[in-house]
Amino acid sequence: MEDAAPGMVFVATSDLAGLLRGKAFPAAEWEKRRLRGVGWTPTNVQITCFDTIAESPFGSLGDLALVPDPATRATLTAGGSLPVDLVLGDIRHLDGRPWDYCTRGAARRALAALEAACGARVLAAFEHEFQVVNQPPRAGDAFGFRGFRDAQPWAEALAAALARAGCRPDSFLKEYGPGQYEITVAPAEGLAAADQAALVRALAHDILPRFGAVPSFAPILDPASVGNGVHLHLSLVDAAGAPLTHDAADPHGLSALARHFIGGVLAHLDQILALLAPSEVSYLRLTPHRWSAAFNNLGFRDREAAVRICPVSATDPEAVARQVNFEVRALDAAASPHLALAAVVFAGAEGVARGIEPPAPTAEDLSLLAPAELAARGFRRLPQSLAEALAALDASAPVRRWFGDGFVDVYLAHKAGEMQRLAGLEWPEKCRAYRDVY
Ligand code: GLU
Ligand code: MG
Repeated sequence: MEDAAPGMVFVATSDLAGLLRGKAFPAAEWEKRRLRGVGWTPTNVQITCFDTIAESPFGSLGDLALVPDPATRATLTAGGSLPVDLVLGDIRHLDGRPWDYCTRGAARRALAALEAACGARVLAAFEHEFQVVNQPPRAGDAFGFRGFRDAQPWAEALAAALARAGCRPDSFLKEYGPGQYEITVAPAEGLAAADQAALVRALAHDILPRFGAVPSFAPILDPASVGNGVHLHLSLVDAAGAPLTHDAADPHGLSALARHFIGGVLAHLDQILALLAPSEVSYLRLTPHRWSAAFNNLGFRDREAAVRICPVSATDPEAVARQVNFEVRALDAAASPHLALAAVVFAGAEGVARGIEPPAPTAEDLSLLAPAELAARGFRRLPQSLAEALAALDASAPVRRWFGDGFVDVYLAHKAGEMQRLAGLEWPEKCRAYRDVY
């Protein structure tokens, strides 16, 4: 029946720039396109967030297919406008083999590596902060009821659209910063969680302007103000869905499996950071006292930690075991959620395979410690610029093993193209450039 429906289906890839790009086809063609997809060009992978084309090893050559994944098909309607079905796709060779540079493919490979290492799967929830950029912020609105009420019309429309698309909104609030809001959707299994994160951003941009509010998820809008973080909440489950993150005997409630996963993330965090916080201005956010992440530390309920053990509200042991989760706080929305998830899960799987212990959890201001003490306790300042993070990625044998040399080299060229576009700009101008994209 639905194939006879009018309207269009837009099949999208969440690309290296963390943006959705793709092509539309008539809904009546679904059965054909579901298998065949739409044509895609290898060099599209080098379209930067500023729509310049970075150096590409593919040039004008080659043909690929962007093939929709029916599980992600969602009908978007907002404010009486024409409906459209948005569906995420995988980039494949014409013979159906996955293409190495597809972000969804990378996430799939990472999740498979984790499962192969220990049988675990991840449940993930992306918590997004963003700011409304076209309305003057008001004082007194941090976490405010008034700020919430200002947003209620678009927040309800967004929540309803997310629910229709199969996401369960978990919480919504007027965040601390000027015009800043936060939305969290309930946990979903690995790949679906990344798909939903892409949808949250797309739907917010689709819906809010219809209510007169223009959102930006850019990592930071003003070098002197707060950042917009993406916090990736994770827990581990077995194939039957039973929780694997908790151990009541551990002082911080973590199972050995979860500790090793976190150990792997923290041991490789400097090397994967360019995939998690991939814009130049991301590094204005990743500084001490912004409640983001500046060191490779595990925090016990500490919001300045790269990975934070989150509190649980449940009391009965079974519910506690299900609720225990930790969040990776070094992400932002310039990152493809699929690539960020892939990087974190590859690093976590490596930690599990090698039994890497994280440094002891902190609940203190690490920026006050002398370098020698930091080093003695296993802490490192994270890269302080995109260039530094890219150099760490480039030099990382593990990252090259997980993602492949081809992928890493293409990513480095992509980012070099992005940075070229920003050459000579002052920080406020760089912030504005990213503000308008994300
Ligand atoms: N805005 C902070 C960030 O950039 C997070 C604040 C919070 O703890 O919610 O990550
Ligand atoms: Mg927040």
